[in-house]
Amino acid sequence: MTATKLDLIPVREWGVFDNLDRPIVIAGPCSAESEQQVFETAKALKSFGIGVLRAGIWKPRTRPNCFEGVGAEGLIWMRRVKQELDMKISTEVANVKHVYEALKAGVDLLWIGARTSANPFAVQEIADALRGTDIPVLVKNPVNPDVELWVGALERLNMAGLKKIGVIHRGFSTYGKSKYRNVPQWQLPIEIKRRFPELLMFCDPSHISGKRELIHEISQQSMDLGYDGLIVESHICPEIALSDAAQQVTPASLSEILGRLVIRKVDSENMEYRENIDELRTKIDIIDNDLLDLLSSRMKVADEIGKYKKHNNITILQPGRWDCILEKVFEKGSAKGLDNEFLEGVFKAIHQASIDRQTAIMNEK
Ligand code: PEP
Ligand code: MN
Repeated sequence: MTATKLDLIPVREWGVFDNLDRPIVIAGPCSAESEQQVFETAKALKSFGIGVLRAGIWKPRTRPNCFEGVGAEGLIWMRRVKQELDMKISTEVANVKHVYEALKAGVDLLWIGARTSANPFAVQEIADALRGTDIPVLVKNPVNPDVELWVGALERLNMAGLKKIGVIHRGFSTYGKSKYRNVPQWQLPIEIKRRFPELLMFCDPSHISGKRELIHEISQQSMDLGYDGLIVESHICPEIALSDAAQQVTPASLSEILGRLVIRKVDSENMEYRENIDELRTKIDIIDNDLLDLLSSRMKVADEIGKYKKHNNITILQPGRWDCILEKVFEKGSAKGLDNEFLEGVFKAIHQASIDRQTAIMNEK
């Protein structure tokens, strides 16, 4: 697949966000539940300077028989917010019917949810339904960590003529225990940013964390990575929310969280800073070169081992050898202040590459 470019309209021309200082904030309840809940939440958010309301109208729930959203009626409540509070309104669409209802209600911004962006048929259907409009659309990462699938969704929208496009990083599903509801895997959004530096990037700390206590930490992390904005779930009374109660915060608490964020600049014109950072980067480049030399030497030894095993008719993998490597790495690494999870990731990759090379050698004619 060749590298693509996206034809994008810069966010200042979207007509949705009045304030483009980082973080640009979209906030509101996970789900629209009642006219009063939507209106009271929006009014409080507005009083804290938030201009764009989010609310789920149709809710993709993991299991049936949960609250699945109020449906199109909720759009009437959102429309009231738009008219009476002069806020912009946004919601999730997952099919053509949602698109028509949302456009008809005057929704200002749409997002495509994580389950939908994982499905190219659904994304294409939405893109086709949006053809001819210029509504801004934010694409959440697919539930599975697949950069190409995420990019594919952006391309489908762009090819349908939509140019006000951005992304929302909401973390990725994993099996097993984690501190997060959806593990962030920051390297994926970073790769998206590398490919499309102009693309507007939001973080959704609510769905990454699954719990309100982590919203600040994740928001700060995203700001430190240069994200443009945050989309945060906020409910006038989170305890009684019909969906995602544990991760919603009151508008006042959201305002307090935002107030505590430290927003660092992406770069600086300051000459002294530039010289120092250049010097440090040169050091990093030299170390990276050394790392490459070491990796190459290590692979050469692995090749020799592969040949030797082949000659002696021995399997590539010896049980216990990997555990033994890892144990030593952890022991030495922790003495050097290196984190076990990090070391495991690095050495797993190196070990896997050795196995692949040895497999190739074994199978040589
Ligand atoms: C949401 O934002 O309400 C939502 C359902 O999110 P996601 O698609 O990230 O699960
Ligand atoms: Mn939610």
